[in-house]
Amino acid sequence: MKTIKVSVVTPDGPVYESDVEMVSTKAQSGELGILPGHISMVAPLQIGVVRLKKNGQTDLVAVSGGLLEVRPDQVTILAQAAELASEIDIDRALRAKERAEQRLNVQQAEHIDFKRAELALQRAINRLAVTEKRI
Ligand code: ATP
Repeated sequence: MKTIKVSVVTPDGPVYESDVEMVSTKAQSGELGILPGHISMVAPLQIGVVRLKKNGQTDLVAVSGGLLEVRPDQVTILAQAAELASEIDIDRALRAKERAEQRLNVQQAEHIDFKRAELALQRAINRLAVTEKRI
């Protein structure tokens, strides 16, 4: 089976490096499936899950947005933050979700940045989804 090299990199360093058979994720323009030999492209990513298929198993990485670069033999994902399912602290994600929901539930408050709270909520939900593998 043909493979393609994948690196998921954050400002703190590499999170995932492996040769995989397929990468799938959500770009801002929609779902993307990348197989070895895919044409070169660059696409902004949503907060979402990157699925990495190899040897009949699928590794899941939660990414908090970023940039996907595809070359025929290499996929690079540059993300603000990214975690493997096994690295996610569920209690921390639950606390972040609760904080964000509380902020969003306040009807009107000049001191609350709703966009920021909405993104924090999406990151938390994404992390929880990855740990529950219901994606
Ligand atoms: P929090 O409010 O809990 O910090 P956040 O969404 O604001 O959540 P980020 O700014 O996206 O956090 O990430 C900061 C750093 O913490 C990154 O290195 C990220 O990988 C890590 N991180 C955030 N939440 C978790 C989590 N639930 N489990 C493991 N690592 C996490």
